[in-house]
Amino acid sequence: MARILDGKAAAAEVRSEVATEVGELQEQGISVRLDVVLVGEDPASVTYVASKERDSQEVGIESRVHRFPADVVQEELAGLVEQLNEDRAVSGFFIQLPLPEGLDARPLISTILPAKDVDGLSPESVGRLAVGLPSLLPCTPHGIIQLLERNGIELAGREAVVVGRSNLVGKPLAQLLLRENATVTVCHSRTRDLPAVTQRADVLVVAAGRREMVGAEHVKDGAVVVDVGIHRKEEGGLVGDVKFEEVEPRAAWISPVPGGVGPMTRAMLLHNTVRAARMFSQATTGGE
Ligand code: NAP
Repeated sequence: MARILDGKAAAAEVRSEVATEVGELQEQGISVRLDVVLVGEDPASVTYVASKERDSQEVGIESRVHRFPADVVQEELAGLVEQLNEDRAVSGFFIQLPLPEGLDARPLISTILPAKDVDGLSPESVGRLAVGLPSLLPCTPHGIIQLLERNGIELAGREAVVVGRSNLVGKPLAQLLLRENATVTVCHSRTRDLPAVTQRADVLVVAAGRREMVGAEHVKDGAVVVDVGIHRKEEGGLVGDVKFEEVEPRAAWISPVPGGVGPMTRAMLLHNTVRAARMFSQATTGGE
């Protein structure tokens, strides 16, 4: 029987560390603030932003939401990004994605200062990660590494297979696994004989966005399986990219959906915000 990679417990640890750090910064007269740009009224985006606001408040991070109607012009958003970059009271900020049709997120994200890019998705943040320079790390891939490390799972020298090559999850995760000295293979929709590749994995991370596509035939005995997928079931509740019931008896460790990667993603946003605030304070006081 597999052990559970409990994202709720690991995320609670991260949140408690963040709350301590926010307190320390406040004692030094530094407040920590996370700003969010929300465009339109997509129900999922509205819910995500509300939960990120709640998470922030719980750890003492001030949070502000800049709301715009779906027909806002691109230039107005570009102006706000510039303003948030310059505002010394803002520790970090992000644009809630996806943006409504007609707006282009890429040029906006490209202009976010790396030191404030708490989503870690700007080309400069991504490039810094790729060449091994310090940067704010994308929340989901960093959350996955934290989930593994906090459960004592060794990555150095092990075969890691990532299913999915998105800019949001698969590609940055591959970089982070490499940084941890894993031997990394990345699969995608054109991979031939997926089970033959995934069966090599000591650590298998599935971020394909395909409901329950990974079954027992994809998994080696004793593998660590991380399920990134999130799908809403018609009858209510969530399910991932992995057939949990079928894979669990074969795996050594498995992350559940819900309660695995999701809570870690949310916690790493708070972690990045406090890190951004600390970097700013060090830059202005000459560092520690
Ligand atoms: P995405 O942008 O749709 O990318 C999916 C990737 O999977 C693509 O690279 C695609 O290959 C690959 N793929 C699709 N079908 C495949 C197949 N049959 N075999 C092998 N590879 C296949 O998705 P994403 O943004 O990375 O998200 C993936 C999943 O994670 C979604 O369910 C999403 O909701 C979830 N998610 C969860 C969290 C969290 O916090 N838990 C965060 C982000 C995303 P091609 O490149 O060839 O098309």
